[in-house]
Amino acid sequence: MAKILTVLYPDPVDGYPPSYARDTIPAISSYPGGQSTPTPQSLDFTPGELVGCVSGQLGLRRFLEERGHSVIFTSDKEGPDSTLERELPDSDVVISQPFWPAYLTPERIAKAPKLKLAITAGIGSDHVDLPSAIAHDITVAEVTFSNSISVSEHAVMQILALVHNYLPAHEWVTTRKGWNVADSVSRNYDLEGMDVGVLGAGRIGQAVLRRLKPFDVSLHYSDVQRLPAEIENEFGATWHPDVRSLAGSVDVLSIHAPLHPKTVNLFNDDLIGAMKRGSYIVNTARALIVNRDAVVRALESGRLAGYAGDVWYPEPPEPEHPWRTMPHEGMTPHVAGSTLSAQARYAAGVREILECWFDSRPIRQEYLIVEGGKLAGTGARSYTVQGPGG
Ligand code: NAD
Repeated sequence: MAKILTVLYPDPVDGYPPSYARDTIPAISSYPGGQSTPTPQSLDFTPGELVGCVSGQLGLRRFLEERGHSVIFTSDKEGPDSTLERELPDSDVVISQPFWPAYLTPERIAKAPKLKLAITAGIGSDHVDLPSAIAHDITVAEVTFSNSISVSEHAVMQILALVHNYLPAHEWVTTRKGWNVADSVSRNYDLEGMDVGVLGAGRIGQAVLRRLKPFDVSLHYSDVQRLPAEIENEFGATWHPDVRSLAGSVDVLSIHAPLHPKTVNLFNDDLIGAMKRGSYIVNTARALIVNRDAVVRALESGRLAGYAGDVWYPEPPEPEHPWRTMPHEGMTPHVAGSTLSAQARYAAGVREILECWFDSRPIRQEYLIVEGGKLAGTGARSYTVQGPGG
């Protein structure tokens, strides 16, 4: 029987369960392109419930205990005395969400000889050291597509919020009790007519392009894999062979590439300096793709007109993290992919992966990041690793 260590974000401060704003969520059975949403044999929660926090347990406790496995749900994940550190050495499976990542560093993986499966409840498995997972033959799987549309909606929201100066205007009428129209509109523009680009035109990047097209903007993208001509034509999007060409051509840049050795620290002083004065960056991908202090400097100097992000490093960030107080920001605490709608899909996807694992059935190729000591499935298409795993 296996020991499953599940690291989830803490419950709401007002207690669990919360009072829900809606009674149902729409039933979605497939994603754009036809991939089906998760197909577990059954579910022990009602879609629309908050299952991503410790008391929500991703709806997994009954299923795992009925099969005789032992399971731990915790949010305590940092430091040598944390539950994660204490329970990891004899765990077989670790599950965590990118919103509250159980960082599986090389040191932690070395201390977990039984670990065979690391599941990301969501998308983005950079919190697992992939070269170590490859070296220790740990399977890494995520629930591909489960929250891609959620994130694309969040990115479009953040683009509009920045360009239209939404958050400062809102603050004038709420916190500041004012009616300061001139102050609010001094940085308020239309998106119409602007050049808008995405870095990474995978599942999320394409969904952003598709959603932005009706805004009558000029669309751009850069991706290591150029899109088929018919999709490029559908979007009317200009492909750029490298990020520098993209960054220098757009007014708004939305980042949708995974974090891996080729994207880490990409947006440094040099690259941001090559962007037009007054550009906007939206980053719902991973914080380490941008240089933390270069973003602050660019906002202070006016090189960037705004930066909205959903992702930080580390997560959770320290109270003094400069992105909490920098000017012209539109930050959120890594929530884009954890809507109640998305949680229903990725919790079901985790259950599907576990059912496959315990019943010795293959995990869907599109869910795989690492398998059999190498990058596999989606991992082989979207990630790179340095070192022997190549
Ligand atoms: P995907 O694998 O479908 O697409 C990623 C795309 O990036 C691929 O087309 C790939 O070719 C491209 N890419 C990789 N390296 C590149 C490079 N160096 N330059 C240009 N393009 C490159 O992934 P996705 O589902 O679209 O998700 C993208 C990322 O979004 C995830 O890896 C994750 O980090 C992030 N994400 C964030 C949230 C959130 O809640 N904020 C939720 C889900 C995913």
